[in-house]
Amino acid sequence: MFFFRNNGDNAKLNVGLMGGTFDPIHMGHLVTAEEARQQFDLDYVVFVPTGTPPHKETGKISLPEHRYLMTSLAVMSNPYFFVSTVEINSEGPTYTIDTVRHFSCGEREGPGVFFITGADAILDIFTWKEYEKLLSLCTFIAVSRPGYSLDRFWDILDRNCPGMKHKVHLLEIPALAVSSTYIRERVTLGKTIKYLTPEPVEQFIKKHGLYLSGE
Ligand code: NAP
Repeated sequence: MFFFRNNGDNAKLNVGLMGGTFDPIHMGHLVTAEEARQQFDLDYVVFVPTGTPPHKETGKISLPEHRYLMTSLAVMSNPYFFVSTVEINSEGPTYTIDTVRHFSCGEREGPGVFFITGADAILDIFTWKEYEKLLSLCTFIAVSRPGYSLDRFWDILDRNCPGMKHKVHLLEIPALAVSSTYIRERVTLGKTIKYLTPEPVEQFIKKHGLYLSGE
């Protein structure tokens, strides 16, 4: 996937990568991506559903193709949003360092990359593959939900990755009160998920009987 400016301007592009399982994608993710696009002057936001996350029991996650299709349905109406298959198409575990390398296409000439994901995931970054290289290749946008302790976030980040605070921005998103877990639980209980996720995603979940068993 290559991006370019179509107005003849040679300024460096800024691309946001929204990393997550998206099981399922919801309004909180979409509001987050749009807010990050505006605040960080991103030219595009590419949603990157995880393939086989190195740190998870995969049996409990919906099929990659289902998560990819739901994400595609959700971003359809936003001309700045795209979805990448780079992680779901790769065999074996996928690592953010490989995804960021893929999009930064050569460290100097490529776009500026901003990796957007949940704040809790970012606190574990020191356990990720080649994390120091990763922090040198991109800027992180850590997204938090209402009620999340921001003081605790900076303390833990400083303890785990000393001197790296300048590579991480914290973005508080009230709409992230909705979570994928909350949506899955509501489906299992037979409750409505209308307005928590875009309607085509809601229909997809119904059609494929996702989350009915609560596993
Ligand atoms: P996850 O299980 O999907 O989410 C963890 C938490 O963060 C959840 O509370 C989730 O809320 C929230 N979240 C996830 N993506 C978000 C986003 N884009 N915007 C806002 N909130 C988000 O994710 P994960 O498995 O921890 O991984 C997150 C990202 O980090 C993925 O891209 C993954 O590939 C990467 N990662 C890489 C490595 C590595 O390279 N070794 C290791 C761990 C994680 P919802 O459930 O509501 O989405």
